[in-house]
Amino acid sequence: MGANLREIQEKIARGSQISREDARSLYEHPELLEVARLAAAVRYRTHPQRTVTYLVDRNINYTNVCNTDCTFCGFYRPRSSHPESYVLSREVLAGKIEEALEHGATRILLQGGHNDELPYAYYVELISWIRSRYPIQLNAFSPSEIQPMHRVSGKSYEAILSELKSVGLDGLPGGGAELLDDGVRQRVSPKKISADEWISVMEVAQSLSLTTTATMVIGFGEDIDARLNHLERLRDLQNRSIARGLEGFNAFISWTLQFNENTSMGRSRHRREFGASISDYLRNLAVARVFLDNIAHHQSSWPTAGIEVAQLGLSFGCDDIGSTMMEENVVSQAGAPTKQKWSMTAEELIDAIRDAGFAPAQRDSKFCIVEGDGVPLASSRFPLPSPGVTC
Ligand code: SF4
Repeated sequence: MGANLREIQEKIARGSQISREDARSLYEHPELLEVARLAAAVRYRTHPQRTVTYLVDRNINYTNVCNTDCTFCGFYRPRSSHPESYVLSREVLAGKIEEALEHGATRILLQGGHNDELPYAYYVELISWIRSRYPIQLNAFSPSEIQPMHRVSGKSYEAILSELKSVGLDGLPGGGAELLDDGVRQRVSPKKISADEWISVMEVAQSLSLTTTATMVIGFGEDIDARLNHLERLRDLQNRSIARGLEGFNAFISWTLQFNENTSMGRSRHRREFGASISDYLRNLAVARVFLDNIAHHQSSWPTAGIEVAQLGLSFGCDDIGSTMMEENVVSQAGAPTKQKWSMTAEELIDAIRDAGFAPAQRDSKFCIVEGDGVPLASSRFPLPSPGVTC
């Protein structure tokens, strides 16, 4: 172990946060398994048990109409007159939610494109309609969807999120973050919400005690500084929220960019400059766990890297393996169709967790344990339930 890694290890043992330059040295360290060992130290300091959680849920995309033209997206259609565009009817939504409930889902994740033709009232009525009919947690509208609501309604982020919460919204998914570095965003998604605005929406959501998650996508041809900018923005917000007695982000979730020929990035002559390897992904998981030691749960995500890599990620600092999803329409449209599947059963996730040597436990979107042969994730730093969270 080099001198720098020893210093990082000492900081971890003291419970101190590592510096940006420490994180850089973890990204550059030649021995990946040494970095994994440090991440595991933070993981077991936070969650001493070998419990790994999973969530049974359904991911519903209510519309594919979007005006934002992200170069990595193969899901959206540019206008409602496009023959493949849609806005899901209430009947279709009801069928999807009822099927999810039959499969034991505890959460619906609701996300869509930035559809100019939907009025602000559509979103409020949608949440209200679902919550008045179905006993299920509802995480909906990532910050990049809240911004168009702000534009069409003229209401502040706080007014919008308060109203959505009042009709039953439980939390916001962390979508639309990709990399919180405006240089990268200008290059790959110039019309999308800026890094500052993404953080602002999440800060308001956290102050209203809505459940929030932090996400990260790697593989845009970014340098280490862009990744560090992303991690620093997340950690700064999390430190601010915790200092205010709030939960902040309850999980960090990262994945690798998918960019097949359905995307303009995948058709670009620069396509060789994009993408991230499996070792890149595992290293990013480990660096994030060490740097973001203030976020309780870190997820090893199976959809883009596959379940075997997700199992490996459990030894790179992760304590959660994500959700069953039931359907995925966004990332899968940009992924290699023969490489992997885009939904899992609860039994498959349980087997994967056990095969990797951990004890599975089903959680809900607040990380409250629903059932499992593991013990609840309780620790002195992140007690279950977290401050302000009622299970
Ligand atoms: S990633 Fe989201 S915001 Fe970007 S084009 Fe696709 S649907 Fe629109």
